[in-house]
Amino acid sequence: MNEYKFIVVGAGFSGAVLAERIANILNEKVLVYEKREHTGGNAYDYLNENRIYIHKYGPHIFHTDSQTVINYLSQFTEWYGYRHKVFAKVDNSYIPLPFDFRGIEILLKKKEKRIKKVLLNRYGKNKKVPIYELLNTKNPDLKEFGEFVFEKIFLHYSKKQWGVNPLTLSKRVLKRVPVYIGYADSYFDNKFQGIPSGGFSSLFEKMLNHKNIKLMLGKDFREDFELRERKFFYRGKYFDGIIIFTGEIDYLFDFKFGRLSYRSLRFDFEDISTEEFQPVAVVNYPGKEDFTRITEYKHFLNQKVKKTTISREYPGEYKRDGSDFNIPYYPFFDKKNEEIYLKYKKEASLIKNLFTVGRLAEYKYYNMDDAVLRALEVFEEIKRITQK
Ligand code: FAD
Ligand code: UDP
Repeated sequence: MNEYKFIVVGAGFSGAVLAERIANILNEKVLVYEKREHTGGNAYDYLNENRIYIHKYGPHIFHTDSQTVINYLSQFTEWYGYRHKVFAKVDNSYIPLPFDFRGIEILLKKKEKRIKKVLLNRYGKNKKVPIYELLNTKNPDLKEFGEFVFEKIFLHYSKKQWGVNPLTLSKRVLKRVPVYIGYADSYFDNKFQGIPSGGFSSLFEKMLNHKNIKLMLGKDFREDFELRERKFFYRGKYFDGIIIFTGEIDYLFDFKFGRLSYRSLRFDFEDISTEEFQPVAVVNYPGKEDFTRITEYKHFLNQKVKKTTISREYPGEYKRDGSDFNIPYYPFFDKKNEEIYLKYKKEASLIKNLFTVGRLAEYKYYNMDDAVLRALEVFEEIKRITQK
């Protein structure tokens, strides 16, 4: 262990970026613990028997406005210029998301002209309006329209996804999918979107294939490390190197301030002997079905194969020791959890050689680009303190 001054826990985007930077730029040895049998975190993908790239932990589309992130990741991959299209299946029609003028034309034909006019007057062309803003307006036409869209698109989908009415959650959640005043050309409006042309896992292989990086797959870091009185011990011996932790922060501290809530998912995969199951990669089901969305994976890299593979996505409450729903996919954004998280954050800040980074350790709704950017920032901090 004396060999290693740097320990990274978790080999998702957050951990992989930090391990790569420390190995390459600081030229230091890094030991990476990853409790799964593979790297990539939730962005992991693999080629299945139909030769289709499957995202095991849910559909992942890279999208960003950050040139820093694009430049950084492009060292390890080329990109397939996929643009993400999502439809919602409403009353047997495909409605493009974000909900825009096409949705009005399909679902509100009779009121089409009036609604478009009111929206354009109030917000202007190509503006993005959070749904709760429409719900809270005093204008009766806008309010009625907002309530219609909320019911058709958001309410039932979100109840399935989060187990509660979404208006009780942080506004950040619904803000991710605004109503679009005009015609949106993609689910995202970032300047760059794409999928690594050889899949996400090959991007991770290139990042982590370095003589200074040792990967310990299938190993929880707490099998080797113990935290006592704000100090880390490796198999009983005091460890004064740097620990970068990207797992669940409540688990790191033995849940001493209480358990943080997460939402989890179950993916039911199905191989189908047809060339195309649905017109786009992701179709959301905001109605009575008990799943939220169906993903057809071949669309991501436009793979031309005779068969297809889909998954139905069923949300549920995270149960750490359950046989199902045992992966903490989504931090649950309410006040109680924010408060618990702040206690862990404060405790972590009192441990000088600990950095908590990423979706689980910071309990944040990071997209992949946010996770990469944050890890690059943390690297700068580590560089500064270690080169003093
Ligand atoms: P993770 O990917 O969760 O990696 C953490 C890793 O740490 C895991 O591999 C875990 O096994 C390991 N670990 C945890 N504890 C320990 C321990 N004690 N010891 C050893 N290892 C440990 N983002 C986008 O930009 N676009 C998308 O389309 C998109 N789709 C998503 C769809 C779903 C269903 C979900 C859940 C997320 C999606 N995201 C998307 C977000 C994206 O997955 C995250 O931004 C990204 O995975 C964050 O990386 P991370 O390294 O912080 O966390
Ligand atoms: N949402 C919804 N209906 C949809 C799509 C999204 O109600 O058809 C809500 C839901 O609460 C979801 C949130 O908007 O959790 C954010 O959606 P996004 O697609 O960003 O979710 P993610 O990809 O993170 O699962």
